[in-house]
This record gives sequence, structure tokens and C-alpha cells, in this order.
Amino acid sequence: MTMEKEMVHQQMSPDGSKNGPVLEVRDLWAGYQKRSALEGVSFSVKSGSVVGVVGPNGAGKSTLFKVILGLHKRWRGEIRVLGIDGKDGRASLGYMPQVEQVDWQFPISAYDVVLMGRYGRLGLFRRVRRKDKEAAWRCLEQVGLADLARRQIGELSGGQQRRILIARALAQEPTLLLLDEPMAGLDATAQHELLALLEELRKEGKSILVATHDLSCVATSFNHALCLNKRVFAYGPPKAILTKEVLNATFESHLLLLDREGDVYAVHK
Ligand code: ADP
Repeated sequence: MTMEKEMVHQQMSPDGSKNGPVLEVRDLWAGYQKRSALEGVSFSVKSGSVVGVVGPNGAGKSTLFKVILGLHKRWRGEIRVLGIDGKDGRASLGYMPQVEQVDWQFPISAYDVVLMGRYGRLGLFRRVRRKDKEAAWRCLEQVGLADLARRQIGELSGGQQRRILIARALAQEPTLLLLDEPMAGLDATAQHELLALLEELRKEGKSILVATHDLSCVATSFNHALCLNKRVFAYGPPKAILTKEVLNATFESHLLLLDREGDVYAVHK
């Protein structure tokens, strides 16, 4: 039995260069059969920044994550994590899948889910050591869920489920976190708590890539926005690049833009 439908690469983090970009993607092309999903995607992520990857359904956000994680093959291009392409670079990644990809009825506790984040770090005989257990507790505390450690995961609220998955990703001791739609379906309070957690992690020096539909979160809380629809339409500080022109080009007819006294309001159709 597996708890989730996607496997994640988990290994020891190498020491990367501290000053270069945490992630560098250069001229990345990928797709399925002969249909392209990503065309010439290039961008780089600096240390300690939160980047929102925005685009309509089918824009290639998940494909971009899968290719960065090594779960889907690229056609061509470079992906460097802490300056390293390939498996050794991916060892510095932590991944949170979409909540729908997890079987929440699986009979497993919140603590065990977080401990799973350590599996890539276990030794030859894959025995859980004291330091793995301690790391799992630390990550649970970091996301504020140590009290609920023994709960079956299905008994957690939507916001708590996201935080457990983030704790599991943190247990991998990543430099760069990839979060797939962490805000989707959360109420305003849970969203606010999640954004506060991301800001805390950013301050600790983590870099975070967030695939999201929520343009307002990106505009108000993130350092950079990457407007993606097969190719990159714009990349930079949200206030500078989330213009009507860029959003129209990225979302095509999926977004209704309202212009009110110079501010653009976006509504998903
Ligand atoms: P997003 O995450 O932005 O919604 P995806 O990366 O899931 O976009 O999809 C990008 C494109 O790739 C879409 O056209 C989608 O239909 C296609 N696609 C995604 N996964 C597969 C797959 N497993 N097989 C074939 N086509 C796929």
C-alpha cells in the first residue's frame, strides 16, 4: 500500500553555493507524447524568496514541478538546484503534493506522515533512528501541530492537512520547497495562517516555489510571480509584473479583469 500516488525524491542535501541562485531553470522544454507543455522556460530563484507560479489550468505548473523533481523527463534544458543539475541537486528539494493526491483515509498518524519525510535519509538498512524521530517532532512543532501528532490524518482539518504535508517536506531538510496549490480550498483564516508559516520559513532562509490559482495571495504576500502558460509571460516582483496585459496574455479567456482606479482585479471565470 502506498499513501500517495506520487513518489518524491528524498536524499541528503549537498552543500551548495550560498550566493548563487537556489534554483536556475534554463530553456526548459517538456511535454507528453509529442505535445509540448513547457516551451523554453527560463527563470531563477534567489535564496530566501517565495515565488508564486501562476497560470490557468493546463498551463504546465504541475509539469514544471514534476520535471524539477525528476518525476517527469525533460525534453531539453537545464535545471540547477544550488548550482547542481540532476539527482544531487534534487536532494535539496522538499515537495508538497496537492491535497487531492493524498489518500487521507489511509490508517496513518500525522507523526508517521512527517517521519516519512526522513525515509530518503535512512541508512543502508532503512532503520528509523532517534535523530529521525527527533527531526519529525521538530518539524511538527515548527508547523504548530505537535499536539495532533497521534491523530489519524483523515481527522485533520484542511489547513492542518496542508501543514502536515509541509512538515513532511521540511523533514527532508530542503533548501527549496515546492508547494503545489497549498492554498486551494482553505478558508480565509487557514489561508492567513499558512501564509504566515511560509513567511516564517522564508525568514529562516528557505526558498519556496508555490503553484497557485490565488493571484491575490501572490500579489500581497509573495516576493516574485512567475506567469506561466507553456512559456513564461513575465517574471518579477508581483506589483511590477501583474499588469492587465500580462494577465490577459497568461490567462487568455480564463480570467475576467476589472480595472478600478488603476488597480486591476482578477476574477477566475
Ligand atoms: P497545470 O498544472 O498548470 O494545470 P499541467 O502541467 O497539469 O498544467 O498540464 C499541462 C499540459 O500537459 C496540459 O495540456 C495537460 O493536458 C497535459 N498533461 C498533463 N499531464 C499529462 C499526462 N499525464 N499525459 C498527457 N498529457 C498531460
